[in-house]
Amino acid sequence: MKKFLCRVCGSALYFENSVCIHCGTDLGYSRQEHTIVPVNSDGTYVDQSGETWHRCANLHLSGCTWLAPAKGDQCFSCCLTRTRPNDQDARGLAQFLDAERAKRHLIAELDGIGLPIVTRVEDPHLGLAFDLLSSVNVDVVIGHQNGVITIDLAETEDAHREKVRAKLDEPYRTMLGHFRHEVGHYFEGALVFSDQERTRQAREIFGDDTRNYQDELNRHYAEGAPDGWESEYISKYATMHPYEDFAETFAHYLHINDTLDTAYEFGLARRGPQESTTFRDVVEDAWLPLSAALNQINRSMGHDDLYPFIIPDTVIDKLTFVADLRTT
Ligand SMILES: [Zn+2]
Ligand SMILES: [Zn+2]
Ligand SMILES: [Zn+2]
Repeated sequence: MKKFLCRVCGSALYFENSVCIHCGTDLGYSRQEHTIVPVNSDGTYVDQSGETWHRCANLHLSGCTWLAPAKGDQCFSCCLTRTRPNDQDARGLAQFLDAERAKRHLIAELDGIGLPIVTRVEDPHLGLAFDLLSSVNVDVVIGHQNGVITIDLAETEDAHREKVRAKLDEPYRTMLGHFRHEVGHYFEGALVFSDQERTRQAREIFGDDTRNYQDELNRHYAEGAPDGWESEYISKYATMHPYEDFAETFAHYLHINDTLDTAYEFGLARRGPQESTTFRDVVEDAWLPLSAALNQINRSMGHDDLYPFIIPDTVIDKLTFVADLRTT
């Protein structure tokens, strides 16, 4: 994430700020300018081309800080949400606020990398959309199908998420992580399976994705990950099916890209993800030393490791394939 400064007083801002706590200026996020801009008292911002932007209609519903093209409209990120909890579901709405915050972080990162988002309006069959569902009264299964990402909003609650994490013996589980994994499935459809040559390459790297998904799912939950999985996969879940290996790899590509970018912006890394020619160089020269240092820093505070993963050489090849999708 880049470093944001208030254009009025120069103070440092967080991506989530809707007001500068130093000078009191109202703020909005301009997707077009990839930055936080001051908002006038009438809730508008006029960009360099003279176009007027308005605060997103969901400022109070979901704490959305983004700007929308017309008064009363939703911003680009909010428009991607197809379903949200109903107005009577207070617990679901509180969870929805946290989920939307993580989703805006995701969309801003995808924009920064230059990964193209095709919306459900542009492509009603395969475009990207989010169903952010409350599981207060019904069960919700997290997943992706033909561009639609379903999120169980209960995963925003720490106690629930930690319980699931411990049960599944995962080293890491966050709402942002869920979004990064699920959007990996979307991009595999949009950027890999839409192209014969890339599909062939993906099968060489991740394995034969025509394997029956349900059979592999059943095997995974009956037998667990195969012995020695650590030398070829980033996580146990990645061993389940080539689709999951790609999505897990994609999530790690986004973890590494964003965290390294942030470290670089704040002077904690010698180079950012954009400064290297290959993603292998990014991982080996910048990410591995940085993540080791960040893990030590977390331990100094009595926390678990920030990045509780070991990246084997095979996974660096997988990450490089994913990183190259943005330029091909
Ligand atoms: Zn300020
Ligand atoms: Zn919005
Ligand atoms: Zn998945």
